[in-house]
Amino acid sequence: MIKENLNKIIVSIPDSVTLVAVSKTKPIAAIKEAYNAGQRDFGENKVQEMLEKHKELPKDIRWHMIGHLQRNKIKYMADFVYLIHGVDSFKTLQEINKQAKKHNRVIPCLLQAKIAEEETKFGMPFSAIKDVLLSDAFKDLQNLEVVGLMGMASFTDNTTQIKGEFQRLKQFFDELKALVSVANFKPQILSMGMSGDYQLAIEEGSTMIRVGSAIFGLRNYV
Ligand SMILES: *Cc1c(COP(=O)(O)O)cnc(C)c1O
Repeated sequence: MIKENLNKIIVSIPDSVTLVAVSKTKPIAAIKEAYNAGQRDFGENKVQEMLEKHKELPKDIRWHMIGHLQRNKIKYMADFVYLIHGVDSFKTLQEINKQAKKHNRVIPCLLQAKIAEEETKFGMPFSAIKDVLLSDAFKDLQNLEVVGLMGMASFTDNTTQIKGEFQRLKQFFDELKALVSVANFKPQILSMGMSGDYQLAIEEGSTMIRVGSAIFGLRNYV
């Protein structure tokens, strides 16, 4: 079923959009099935779980950390994480930079923007993102690159609202591209869209979708 689900999604999205298969809570066997169908980008939201899966699975998998980050866990994934999606403070950027330096690498990150109207979602207000990217302190973080933005729309059936939230993020992304020119800001990725709203997200300019349940089936817990 996993292979069929994957193929259904892949044929329905443009080649320019990257599909991250969100495998959180799912067993190794499920990831292997997706891997054997050709999938290489996988997303996890807990560092420990990603670590264990990384150890067991083929090394050409690109591991995306999509969850809310605990700063003290960054060191455990700094040597292999491919892209960190959920960065929502300057302090977190500093810690990523510090850990990346230890491994002599540059870690690509996305800043998570707050676009949902709900109170529960993480992310930075647009103004805070601007402040960080325009600050002198940001320029000094030479072991990371902010390669774009990530956002999660409200959990609602109201497609007009979801569409509006994605539109605002895309517009802000374009605004940043024109506004910020520092070496470690290389805006290429707009990570938005999940199982329930990825078509909408792509229509509004997403370049990377994070899809879990539409590939692996429903989860018992988040
Ligand atoms: C769980 C999760 C997803 C995938 O959610 P689905 O609805 O199962 O596709 C995407 N992004 C983030 C940040 C997540 O935590």
